[in-house]
Amino acid sequence: MLKEWLKRLKKEKSEDKNKDKLEYENRFMKFYYLNQNRLNKERRGSYGSRRKSGICVRCKRPAVKGIVFCEYHQEKQREYNQKARGKFN
Ligand SMILES: [Zn+2]
Repeated sequence: MLKEWLKRLKKEKSEDKNKDKLEYENRFMKFYYLNQNRLNKERRGSYGSRRKSGICVRCKRPAVKGIVFCEYHQEKQREYNQKARGKFN
């Protein structure tokens, strides 16, 4: 009984907090902040989860073990690195 009551109390408190956060200067600022948060989360999330699940970060093919690219993009990256090195030497 007490636990339930505490849970409810906590929930109400956190909802109040969210309400405060959502009161931005105006509608446009609110939109900007909300989208900024969402976009950042999505960007971080997809790169991180792909890395973890062994999927190439440039396409959806399975990545080579130990790196974040598939065989095709590993090759592309290798070519790119060789060209870049060639330029500097
Ligand atoms: Zn790839």
